[in-house]
Amino acid sequence: MDAALARAWVAAVAASVTAHAAELTDLDAAIGDGDHGVNLRRGFDAAVAALASFEADSAGAVLTKTGTTLVSKVGGASGPLYGSFFRALGKTLSDDPDAFADGLRAGLDAVVRLGKAEPGDKTMVDALVPAVDAYAAAAPSGFAAAATAAAGAAADGAAATTPLQARKGRASYLGERSAGHQDPGATSTALIFAALAGLG
Ligand code: ADP
Ligand code: MG
Ligand code: MG
Repeated sequence: MDAALARAWVAAVAASVTAHAAELTDLDAAIGDGDHGVNLRRGFDAAVAALASFEADSAGAVLTKTGTTLVSKVGGASGPLYGSFFRALGKTLSDDPDAFADGLRAGLDAVVRLGKAEPGDKTMVDALVPAVDAYAAAAPSGFAAAATAAAGAAADGAAATTPLQARKGRASYLGERSAGHQDPGATSTALIFAALAGLG
């Protein structure tokens, strides 16, 4: 990935979370505090603004900056989690711009290290794990095919959170009543990978 593609990805995510802000907020209103759409919109709009005045010539620098901006601008749980994801991805790409599959894996590892969620806990991890696995499996076929596979896997993973009972984050306070709603963070992870696939 080069700097231009990384910038295009962040811009596409910002546009997508804006287009889906109401949906993300409604999902979070059902099992959380109703701010997920607002949180991500603020964070990715701030990332786009920060990148506009940031002269980076590598995807690694662009995505690290994106992550740092998300951490500083988003108050909710998702800010530090997505911020860590993009920072770890950016750091990997700074060492090797071609190591996108490894970078996604490093991003996932950072999210798990910070949030301690396991698959099945009804969080963004339920979309992230299948997306990262699908990307790695399809990587030999090239970026476009791998990103498309990852996007499909993330969407399936997000949909599969609906019947689950949350064991991490605010939704876990609801206990059994968290079942029956798709997790907002898993839903936004699907948007992030759909935006990636849209670049191919
Ligand atoms: P907050 O819950 O602080 O208001 P957001 O609404 O922005 O933050 O984000 C909520 C989402 O964050 C959840 O839907 C879930 O996917 C994700 N999340 C919360 N806690 C964790 C965690 N410990 N690990 C992974 N993801 C988490
Ligand atoms: Mg919330
Ligand atoms: Mg909140």
